[in-house]
Amino acid sequence: MRYIKKGQEPQSFTDWKSQENDDWQPTYKTLRGQIKAEVHDALLEEQGYICCYCGMSITRNISHIEHLQPQNDRDTNLPKDLALAIDFTNLLASCGIPEKSNQEYEKILHCVYHCGIKKGNNLLPVNPLQPDCEVFFRYLPILQGEEYDVEILPTEEPDKQQLAADTIKTLNLNYSKLTAMRGSAIKGALEAIEGLTQEEIERFIKSYEQPNKQAFSFAITYILKQFLDPKSI
Ligand SMILES: [Zn+2]
Repeated sequence: MRYIKKGQEPQSFTDWKSQENDDWQPTYKTLRGQIKAEVHDALLEEQGYICCYCGMSITRNISHIEHLQPQNDRDTNLPKDLALAIDFTNLLASCGIPEKSNQEYEKILHCVYHCGIKKGNNLLPVNPLQPDCEVFFRYLPILQGEEYDVEILPTEEPDKQQLAADTIKTLNLNYSKLTAMRGSAIKGALEAIEGLTQEEIERFIKSYEQPNKQAFSFAITYILKQFLDPKSI
């Protein structure tokens, strides 16, 4: 998980909401078409086209607009907050689409088992709008033959451990497909730094720390830093 700095909502979204009157109230259900697509694109752009929770690469076709504070749309017993459901500061882009709507669906079937779809109406103890969210997690590469699996673990700081553990569980961030995807990302990064000097590796890590479109960049930087200096983590 990496901190997401929220930007401006699209003007079309603001204009649409400002049309509210006595007979019509903007709701998430009525947000459709071009305006919804522009909101979705703005979220992807500010996140660098990676999932707000797991960090896999996403596009509009394989992600959905995620409500950090749930809109409780599927549970009629829970209170609904209509304003929060269309508040840009509560919206993120998560991997996964809830139902088959395009031909890429089969490739991302695993996403229904983690991240936004798995979270549903639950609250997250640690979330990507917290500037310090990254420090709650550690990443552990496990060599399986030629391949790596990378598990996400809670930090060793006692006051953060339970919050991190609950977040990992709610989002199911150790789902097997995710640990394998993180593994192949780290394998690629380790190959890329082979033969580089310490200084070049440090520069490589810095480039991954900038907002970029690199999948699992936060796991990669964590592991590479540990690889350079195990005491620095
Ligand atoms: Zn995800």
